[in-house]
Amino acid sequence: MTDFDRRTLLSGLGALCLGGTASLSISSRADAQTVPAVPMPPVPRLTHSHDVVSLTEVRTNRPAVALTFDDGPHPTHTPMLLDILARYNAKATFYVIGQMVRRYPEILHRIVAEGHEVGNHTWTHPTLSRLGNPSVLSEIDRTQEIVWRTVGALPVTMRPPYGAITGRQSHMLADQRSIPTIMWSVDTQDWRRPGSSIVADRMVRGARAGAVILAHDIHGPTVRAIPAAIEGIAARGFDFVTVSQLLGWRRWGPRGLRYVSGPANEYRG
Ligand SMILES: [Zn+2]
Repeated sequence: MTDFDRRTLLSGLGALCLGGTASLSISSRADAQTVPAVPMPPVPRLTHSHDVVSLTEVRTNRPAVALTFDDGPHPTHTPMLLDILARYNAKATFYVIGQMVRRYPEILHRIVAEGHEVGNHTWTHPTLSRLGNPSVLSEIDRTQEIVWRTVGALPVTMRPPYGAITGRQSHMLADQRSIPTIMWSVDTQDWRRPGSSIVADRMVRGARAGAVILAHDIHGPTVRAIPAAIEGIAARGFDFVTVSQLLGWRRWGPRGLRYVSGPANEYRG
């Protein structure tokens, strides 16, 4: 467990044990100091799904597409991708694996700080269609929790690993967690490693109003494809927005809390 995890856990336990009003004593170097308790509140539940259960693209006249990147955060490829997206002022959606968020929380901070959206891509990347409801819910809930505890915002959509989910499971997640299933309309098949130019070409050719483009920010060639892809898609007149923006939703998750870097790395309201 890293220091960050411990501190985050402390904050979370503070929320549970102290009810958010008491002070939390934290040892710092030689002397113990008391800091105001600013614990994370319990993970909230989404209360409205906007009536979406599952979709592959968004029906819209708006000339915009959603770039989506699965399986991160990755320690080197994701930061490189963020640099590129920032250069073009393009927003994207990152379907993150909970275990990877736990390993690379600082990259999740960067994703959120730079205006991108975070979606839920399960905790361990299993084939959900082979799992029972309790396991499916556990995979989703654990990732909701780590994202919430890391950045104080909650994913409002999920994407099943391998696209493997049953209609019944999507309905169950929409009913019980208000989290719709977002598939894709453009598959770059970048995991087959076809090379950067082919990945970029597939993105550009697939772009149309409301398209949801699938790629993975764990592959170097994918990241290197993005400048050409963005330039080609932009030349066809499309903007780059997050999944929630494409759906016309105002924001992707409760953002009442702001991360404050410092000795205690607390969250402040
Ligand atoms: Zn995946």
